[in-house]
Amino acid sequence: MPETTHYEFQAEVRQLLDILSHSLYTHRDVFIRELISNAADALDKVRFNSVKGEEMCDAALDFEIKIDLDEKEKTFTITDTGIGMTHQELIDNLGTIARSGTSEFVKQLAADDKNVNLIGRFGVGFYSVFMAAEKVDVTTKAAAPDEPAWIWTSDGTGTFDIAEGPKDQKRGTSIKVTLRDNADEFAQKWKVQSIIEKYSNFVPFPIKLNGEQVNKVTAIWREPKSNVSKEQYNEFYKFIAHQSDDALSWMHFSADAPIQFHSLLFVPKTNMEFFGIESPDEGINLFVRRVLIDAHDKEILPNYLRFIRGVLESDDLPLNISRETLQDNPYMIKIKNTVVGKLLSYLNDLAKKEPETFKEFWKNHGRIVKEGYNDFSNKDKVAALFHFNSSKGKDKTELVSLDAYIDRMPTDQEEIYYISGPDRKTIENNPALEIFKAKDIEVLYCYDPIDEFALPGLFNYKEKNIVSADQVDLKKLEKIPNKEADDKKSTKKTTKKDEKDLDKLARRLKDILGDKVEDVKLSDRLVNSPAVLVSQGMSSQMEKMMHIYTPDKPPKPKLMEINKTHPLILNLLTIYKKDAKDHMLETAAYNLFNSAALLDGTIVDPQLMATTIQSMISETLDLYTKETDVVEDQPSE
Ligand code: ADP
Ligand code: MG
Repeated sequence: MPETTHYEFQAEVRQLLDILSHSLYTHRDVFIRELISNAADALDKVRFNSVKGEEMCDAALDFEIKIDLDEKEKTFTITDTGIGMTHQELIDNLGTIARSGTSEFVKQLAADDKNVNLIGRFGVGFYSVFMAAEKVDVTTKAAAPDEPAWIWTSDGTGTFDIAEGPKDQKRGTSIKVTLRDNADEFAQKWKVQSIIEKYSNFVPFPIKLNGEQVNKVTAIWREPKSNVSKEQYNEFYKFIAHQSDDALSWMHFSADAPIQFHSLLFVPKTNMEFFGIESPDEGINLFVRRVLIDAHDKEILPNYLRFIRGVLESDDLPLNISRETLQDNPYMIKIKNTVVGKLLSYLNDLAKKEPETFKEFWKNHGRIVKEGYNDFSNKDKVAALFHFNSSKGKDKTELVSLDAYIDRMPTDQEEIYYISGPDRKTIENNPALEIFKAKDIEVLYCYDPIDEFALPGLFNYKEKNIVSADQVDLKKLEKIPNKEADDKKSTKKTTKKDEKDLDKLARRLKDILGDKVEDVKLSDRLVNSPAVLVSQGMSSQMEKMMHIYTPDKPPKPKLMEINKTHPLILNLLTIYKKDAKDHMLETAAYNLFNSAALLDGTIVDPQLMATTIQSMISETLDLYTKETDVVEDQPSE
């Protein structure tokens, strides 16, 4: 009798097993998908080692997966000729969960059993077998020469046993599932066959069910496009991306010379970066001559395209090469550049040919794509994907590309303008936009914090500088005429003498406000508002972000511009001309500053704000009561 050692599952595993075996009754069939997927992974690994020329036992065995059902005994047994597991690997792989984000996942699983579908994405696929199993026996022999075989046994209730396996055991793993009474359907051939067809049709190794091969083993990415149906594409996508939804779109592209490769890349419908962690199945499947080299290659596509799933295969890459050195292979670099260029062109075409699909793409993945602003070798193609809401859009959902923006620019407009803010309403109230409205210049509205890096990061597009509207050099706008209606308004020009007095008023306001403002100046950009705060060197939104990162550094005081034709300012001028020391000037200066700061979104000192508002109210009330006195003195009509 061989010796048996008793082990306890890690706490997280116990918790997971508890949920799997007690509360989940729907979607139980995913356990078959997971066991097949593990068998295929094990075969991929052993095939990879064999092409690298590594020594292994039972080298003559075919790479295949066998599933044997016994309806009478109620057992489901899956056997592969893959890499197998050593004693330590059994303990680590089938007793613990090492991956980050798992406990989050377990919580989600408990909350909604639909999440069982995601089980493979979180590296806990094996344990799903306990949704249907009363008892599981795993017999395994590692591929490395001279490794003994082992038998792992558990009923999924907290512990497992490992004993020595048979001496004549062949390389690979065999998992015997003794089904629970209520799960005996998984010992029926028609049932298991339909599950394999549903989930595992694209497994690249033969799957033999009770001796008969049931899957097709076709590498659809190597097929001509005309041979592949939409359904096959979607089925394949669901298989490799662990998704239950169809793909949003895909690019199937092969090249022959001077470089040879096949690629099939999918755009998922949804953003998979939930739980605030990057998606565990990120990366694409890299094949060299039918051998899977890396199931999660993250080097071929740049980080800003990390939501893409799919396959890339080339027959011209060396097989006996490690994943690491492959990335420096000059041939690989060429493939990479071609694929990324093609994919970006594909997405740009999508915008033209299928605008609705593109909109969906941009909504879900645009935030990530914008991280690509600093891919200088593909800059124009990346920037061409950028879409924004704008002052010309009728609501938040209407988007414009940089190209379309340039197309409809007035002739004398030299630059591309954008403004950032949390939402459309806040942005539209930004006084910095008044001059743009008056001149009918379109401004891109940016709601996403990444825009603050992405747009200035692009610096320019099609030789047009990209400038934040609150940073515009007003000289650039001089040549662009005002809209007709506004032209009449602005005939109300100030005289030279007025300007001099207004300048003095500005000096006085600066005196009053002191360090709160960098300076006070007469504005050329304001139409309807009396005053605006302007930051120099950095857009106002960017400044706010910097403040988040360096909260101890006080924000730089801004320039306050005042509107020289606004009645409020003209009234102040009247008071100033009568008495430059009038107390009312002080109250007004503070209120003007506070209200401009509020609109700018910069934090206003609430203490200061309250006292200035109160003194304004009391001064107004004083005036009002005096006036009413006067009225009362007059004889009534
Ligand atoms: P994942 O497959 O995402 O790693 P699983 O829970 O499905 O997570 O499997 C855990 C680990 O157990 C695998 O990574 C693998 O190392 C090991 N394993 C499972 N099944 C097999 C098998 N048939 N052959 C070899 N190793 C296996
Ligand atoms: Mg797995």
